Amino acid sequence: MTDTATTSPAAAELTFAVTKNLAAKSAAQREEILQNPGFGTSFTDHMVDVCWSEKGGWHRPRVQPYGPIPLDPAAAVLHYGQEIFEGIKAYRHADGSIHTFRPDRNAARLQKSARRLALPELPTAYFLQSLRALIAVDGDWVPSGADQSLYLRPFMFAKEAFLGVRPAKKVAFYVIASPAGAYFTGGIKPVRIWLSESYARAGKGGTGAAKTGGNYASSLLPQSEAYEKGCDQVVFLDADRNVEELGGMNVVFVFKDGRVVTPESDSILEGITRDSLLQLAEDRGLTVERRAVSLEEWRQGVASGDIVEVFACGTAAVVTPIGALVSEDFEDEQPLGDLALSLREELTDIQYGRREDKHGWLVRLDS
Ligand SMILES: *Cc1c(COP(=O)(O)O)cnc(C)c1O
Repeated sequence: MTDTATTSPAAAELTFAVTKNLAAKSAAQREEILQNPGFGTSFTDHMVDVCWSEKGGWHRPRVQPYGPIPLDPAAAVLHYGQEIFEGIKAYRHADGSIHTFRPDRNAARLQKSARRLALPELPTAYFLQSLRALIAVDGDWVPSGADQSLYLRPFMFAKEAFLGVRPAKKVAFYVIASPAGAYFTGGIKPVRIWLSESYARAGKGGTGAAKTGGNYASSLLPQSEAYEKGCDQVVFLDADRNVEELGGMNVVFVFKDGRVVTPESDSILEGITRDSLLQLAEDRGLTVERRAVSLEEWRQGVASGDIVEVFACGTAAVVTPIGALVSEDFEDEQPLGDLALSLREELTDIQYGRREDKHGWLVRLDS
C-alpha cells in the first residue's frame, strides 16, 4: 500500500539529470504569456520524465526541454488507454516563495488510480521530488497576479510496444506545467448543468474513482450534448439515479439547517478541493455528510427550500455555483447562497498565503 511505498528506502531520493532547454522563452516572452495565460494553452520550458520497467522499477529521472514524446506506434496507451493523471497547482505568495497544496493527497490518489489501471505506484516522495525538480528550473513561470497559478499536470502511461492485452511492462511518468489565469474572467457566474440521462460516466466496479483519461473520453459526447442544450457542464447519475459528479468537478449541496452534503460512492473521483472545502465547513461548525444523494432528494430539496445552495468544486475552477439543473423534461433554477463563495475565498486565501494554514496543507516547492 501507500505507506510501504513511501517509506521503502529505495524511494528516498531521485537524482534528476537536468538538460536545460536552449530554446527556452526569454524573460520578456514569458512575462507576456503570464500577463494573460488562459488555461492549458501555454507550457513551461521543461518537463519531468521518469521511466519504469518491470525489471528496473523507477529509473532515469530527468528534467528535459518541454517537447514531443517519442512513442512507438504500438505503445499500449494508444490502443488500450492505460493512462492516469493528476492536477495540482503551484501558488506564488507575496514574499515570492512558491507553494503547493496537499501534494501528499495527489500522490496517494495517483497511487490509487495506478492500482485500478494496473500501472506501477509512484512513491509519494518521488511525486514530490518531481514537482520540486520542475519548479527548480521553471519557477519563474509561477505567475504572481491575482488568482493566477502554475497548473502542474503529472501523468503516467503504458509505453510498452505490445498489442497483447495485459498490463504494460514499460511505463512513463511525466510532469508538465502550464500557467493558469483566473478561471473566471469577469467574475464568477453560476453555471447551467445538463442532466445526462442517456449516458453514464462510470459503473459499479468501473474506473469512476480513478483519474484516468478514459473517463474523460466518455464524457465528451454528453458534454457536447450539454452545449447544444445551452448548458456549461454535465451532471452524471449512477444506475440508482443517485447524483455522481460533473465528470471533472465534485458536487456539494448546502441545506437550510447547516448540513453540507456530498455524494459518496465508489464511482466518484474523490476531489481534494472538495475534501478541503468540507474541512473548512466543519471548522465553521457545519455538519458534513458524505452519502448517497438521489436526484429526487435534490429536486425536492430545492423545491421545498431545504436545499439553499448547490456548487461544484475542483482544482482548476476551485468553486462554481450551480445556477440551473436542466434536462429534457424540466429546468430547475437553483438557489444561490453565500457559502460557496465564502469557502472559496477562505481556501484560496490559504493557498496564496493570505491566511493561516491551520491544517498544514501547504508544502513549499522552491527550497
Ligand atoms: C480531478 C477531478 C475532480 C476534482 O478533484 P480535485 O482534486 O478537487 O481537483 C473531480 N472529478 C473528476 C472526475 C476529476 O478527474
